[in-house]
Amino acid sequence: MDILDIEKNKCIGCGACISIDEAHFDWDDDGLSKVISNENLQTEELTNAIESCPTAAIRLAKTSTVFENISDDSKTTSPIVATDN
Ligand code: SF4
Repeated sequence: MDILDIEKNKCIGCGACISIDEAHFDWDDDGLSKVISNENLQTEELTNAIESCPTAAIRLAKTSTVFENISDDSKTTSPIVATDN
């Protein structure tokens, strides 16, 4: 699963991403861009918006699929250790 995120300390509020891709970005209360959707992350508009950011503040990061497949109980206990059994 991919996660769309903006590094707020890098955003200068130029509005480029919002004007290019209104489906994923909008203004926040501080005049910076915020992510409004994590759906449909393969669109041309999103790619263009990411490439247009002058400060490279927009990240499209892959989350680890390993922990998504581990039950909630396992997350709170010791790490999984492989055995030769
Ligand atoms: S293009 Fe980059 S700097 Fe401009 S508003 Fe969007 S995230 Fe901020």
